[in-house]
Amino acid sequence: MEDCIFCKIAKKEIESNLVYEDDMVVAFRDLSPQAPEHVLIVPKKHIASINDFTKDDRELMGHIMTEVLPEVAKSLNIAEGGYRVVINTGEDAQQTVKHLHVHLLGGRKMTWPPG
Ligand code: 5GP
Ligand code: ZN
Repeated sequence: MEDCIFCKIAKKEIESNLVYEDDMVVAFRDLSPQAPEHVLIVPKKHIASINDFTKDDRELMGHIMTEVLPEVAKSLNIAEGGYRVVINTGEDAQQTVKHLHVHLLGGRKMTWPPG
């Protein structure tokens, strides 16, 4: 996808503060952190949102949930204390970047419900 900022970050055409990478995803620090630790896990494949998933994305999302998130949380030292995982989807959730990304937030006590 041309002009997609997260595609460009995944291809290293734009700099980011990478904390993890494998063949399917990159994870980098959010430019505007909402918690002491705030990382975005981004598939290298362009998928606009959860609404655009196909069966082909099962392996990718299973990988993110079962392997990438726990590993990155551990590496940030927030696994024990706890963390929040968020995927904003569409207008009501205020998704601003139209390339699916998983927010991993930790390092402080969260409030609930989210605003
Ligand atoms: P959304 O609101 O779409 O769920 O989240 C988009 C996130 O991407 C925001 O938290 C925003 O701070 C972050 N972001 C937007 N552009 C960039 C960028 O160029 N670099 C990084 N590291 N984060 C970005
Ligand atoms: Zn993209």
